[in-house]
Amino acid sequence: MADHGCKKLVFSSSATVYGCPKEVPCTEEFPLSATNPYGRTKLFIEEICRDIYCSDNEWKIILLRYFNPVGAHPSGYIGEDPRGIPNNLMPFVQQVAVGRRPALTVFGNDYSTVDGTGVRDYLHVVDLADGHIAALNKLSDRNIGCEVYNLGTGKGTSVLEMVSAFEKASEKKIPLIMAERRAGDAEVIYASTDKAERELKWRAKYSIDEMCRDQWNWASKNPCGYESSSDSK
Ligand code: UDP
Repeated sequence: MADHGCKKLVFSSSATVYGCPKEVPCTEEFPLSATNPYGRTKLFIEEICRDIYCSDNEWKIILLRYFNPVGAHPSGYIGEDPRGIPNNLMPFVQQVAVGRRPALTVFGNDYSTVDGTGVRDYLHVVDLADGHIAALNKLSDRNIGCEVYNLGTGKGTSVLEMVSAFEKASEKKIPLIMAERRAGDAEVIYASTDKAERELKWRAKYSIDEMCRDQWNWASKNPCGYESSSDSK
């Protein structure tokens, strides 16, 4: 970047840097911590970005803290296709719906939430993409320094609520296996969206039902991900 005189950066950070927050919604000023190695990489790179700006204030840096991106492009041509066993909820649910896995393991149903399962802030990948365009536009403002924004909807949804929305969209039954909590998982986490709305003029538009509709559209057209399409090679 130095060779090309580039001093603008948008970094994809994650809500995981909030660790297990004491309250919700999470504002950008909340204390940060890492509960797993992935979270630590995000935290460290955020720190490096803040240091770069301190050492040279010509830099303009935006750190975007993604909540839980799900769904797919509405065309059905672009979607998530993780290798191996998916770690995240919705890719796993999708693979159960297309018959690649027998059941979803639900990690904990004894949390203090609406139905005992973990609550997260799911947002449509197209909203997430729009958030990046808003961030790029913000980089043309004068003197923005190093700023951080949450990208989320501000709404919390439980694992069982997500499963039920996906069952409705796909008209498939998702068999469930109730299991222990997963180490390092927060109970409830969702975003405060005020700062992004105010300063980036961005807010998420898509509902949970639309996220599931578009994810099912991608999954049903590409049950084996990118391997499914004849021109994938
Ligand atoms: N989850 C689950 N089964 C899975 C994967 C995830 O019950 O196979 C739960 C997880 O415990 C959490 C929620 O789904 O409450 C979202 O998990 P994900 O890994 O997608 O996101 P993160 O925990 O990183 O926010």
